[in-house]
Amino acid sequence: MPPESATLDSSRVPFSFELYPPRSASGEDALHETIRRLADAGPDFISVTYGAGGSTGGRSLEVLRFIRENTYVEPLAHLTCVGNTYAGAAALIREFLDAGILSFLALRGDPPAGQTEPFLGDLETSAQLVQLIGRVQAECAPYEETPIPGLPGAARITSRRHVNIAVAAFPKGHPRATHRTQDVEALLAKQAAGATFAITQLFFHPDDYSAFVERARAAGVTIPILPGIMPITSPARLARVLELTGEDLPSELAIALEIEPTAEGRREIGIEWAARLTREVVAAGAPGVHLYAFNQHDTVLTVLAEAGLLPALRS
Ligand code: FAD
Repeated sequence: MPPESATLDSSRVPFSFELYPPRSASGEDALHETIRRLADAGPDFISVTYGAGGSTGGRSLEVLRFIRENTYVEPLAHLTCVGNTYAGAAALIREFLDAGILSFLALRGDPPAGQTEPFLGDLETSAQLVQLIGRVQAECAPYEETPIPGLPGAARITSRRHVNIAVAAFPKGHPRATHRTQDVEALLAKQAAGATFAITQLFFHPDDYSAFVERARAAGVTIPILPGIMPITSPARLARVLELTGEDLPSELAIALEIEPTAEGRREIGIEWAARLTREVVAAGAPGVHLYAFNQHDTVLTVLAEAGLLPALRS
């Protein structure tokens, strides 16, 4: 990860994207095209979400494999620990490592719809999952063998790269946090467990991010904190993310989306909002930006272009 002093120099501001596994075969073809287009922009990594309880496990790994085998971009696997045993979680981590995945976002996950706590398995927090990922990798062979073409049985031996382990951070507080300092304490616990960087939940104002980073630094968090930015291009999407994240309604954006009559106009409003947020957090010292892409490339690439981070797409 880059230092937090990154500036608006397009060659130095890293960015990354988040995708989710497709729900249908036609969605799969479209996603492959999206991955190629996103990869062409040169992101640091592309992350793929994971359904809590393993609901999308196989499909997540397929998308990660596609990224690894068809692009030069680092695939980053979200993993959740909700409802899993130690042995089950360790087997899952090993499966991803064996597929060549070396970057993870370790998450607790949420309970299935309609179910309330207690819903956890052996692992109660993402910090425990961070430790388990580190431990499972340490148990794997310390080297990798790559077959040498034309020399049957011969293999090139290289030392195994250490895993990157990201964790979630909540600038406006986790919806179920009981006091203001809990989220910084949770992030400290994740760092102590071995997390190498954090990605934030979406937020709507640059001060939300800056104030959280300031509190985290004052408490001793030293890992990079990557702001998560979501272009909100319709009132329906806004309502859905507010429901999922518990964020406060950003009234200015909500009104603008509500009164705009055309879908294209609403898309432009969402892009402009996300591009402004991107510019402002980068100017405030963010080490890069992580964009929630909703399995489409056009919107997030336009956000980056409007924020001045994609020289090739500048008009
Ligand atoms: P934890 O780190 O376990 O923390 C949850 C809360 O518990 C903390 O905020 C804190 O309030 C408390 N807590 C935890 N540890 C401690 C501690 N040591 N001391 C004190 N308090 C503590 N969900 C999915 O199912 N699949 C995904 O792919 C997915 N991707 C996500 C990507 C990002 C960038 C983000 C921000 C969230 C994502 N989520 C995903 C949602 C996430 O699973 C939920 O927000 C979940 O409720 C919390 O996960 P966590 O990893 O932060 O949990």
